[in-house]
Amino acid sequence: MKLLEVQDLKVHFPVRHGLFSRARQYVKAVDGVSLTVDAGETVGLVGESGCGKTTLGRAVIRLLEPTSGRILFDGEDLAQLDGEALRQKRRHFQMIFQDPYGSLNPRMTVGEIIGEAIDIHRLAATVDARRGRIESLLRQVGLDPSHMTRYPHEFSGGQRQRIGIARALAVEPKLIVCDEPVSALDVSVQAQVINLLQDLQRQLGVAYLFVAHDLAVVEHISARVLVMYLGRVVESGPSKDLISEPRHPYTQALISAIPEVDPESKRQRIVLSGDVPSPIQPPSGCPFHPRCPVAEARCSIETPPLRELSPGHWAACHLAQPAATSSLASRDNAG
Ligand code: SF4
Repeated sequence: MKLLEVQDLKVHFPVRHGLFSRARQYVKAVDGVSLTVDAGETVGLVGESGCGKTTLGRAVIRLLEPTSGRILFDGEDLAQLDGEALRQKRRHFQMIFQDPYGSLNPRMTVGEIIGEAIDIHRLAATVDARRGRIESLLRQVGLDPSHMTRYPHEFSGGQRQRIGIARALAVEPKLIVCDEPVSALDVSVQAQVINLLQDLQRQLGVAYLFVAHDLAVVEHISARVLVMYLGRVVESGPSKDLISEPRHPYTQALISAIPEVDPESKRQRIVLSGDVPSPIQPPSGCPFHPRCPVAEARCSIETPPLRELSPGHWAACHLAQPAATSSLASRDNAG
């Protein structure tokens, strides 16, 4: 069942050259993305810094106003909701932030941080019920309930991210947007936090939109993955298919950069030349063509549409060939 459905979403930011000047240019941070997340599912969103994945995650939970497109949550168009109806709906989608140091108020105790969310949505009828709920949430994320009187600076990075997770869970959400939740943590702590998120999903049935630049992390946790480049989805599909048989040259380059455990592996590293172009003036045709190692003449003229190459596996590349077993059945028409 579709919990979240994003249709042709665009988030464009005006660029002004003076305080009172008119915007003549726009940063196309997200430029026509469609995706779905089912109840209890994890969908990964991956790409280099500046590809638009964080902007997309924030627009999904209405921290940013989209320029156009639709966001349906539980079948309801969020743009049509306001006031109390939007507040009620907001409870069902939460966010975990990249920076566990900056996302917690240093002047509040852990109990106050988690209790604030419970208070806003009036989820505890009595003081005892509120306290019991905070203690139970701390246990659920692997922290000692007696720590509720401590302040964020008394915890390690991993523990602070656990507090952020407890705060998100306090309102019993159906979807959590995880914005690079482990990229600021040590590798050993990253695994613990990922395992915790997976355990919580099994217990609570919560869905995740998991945003990260590290494809190895995203693959580990996600059933499906979308790869973004310059505000668009260039490839999407079941994570196993996408990793074992990437069709887009950009995805192939990202995968080639994942460190391999097997010393016998012959995987060649694909080093992309140049930086990601400006989203103010994206390249003509295929936006990846200035960096693509296999670009042809037509790539700078014709924009490749997303095509389904095998069941549920889509890519936007002129050279990607459909598999013989291609099916019309699809999950996302992202892009
Ligand atoms: Fe490369 Fe052309 Fe495919 Fe774009 S369409 S990814 S430039 S081969």
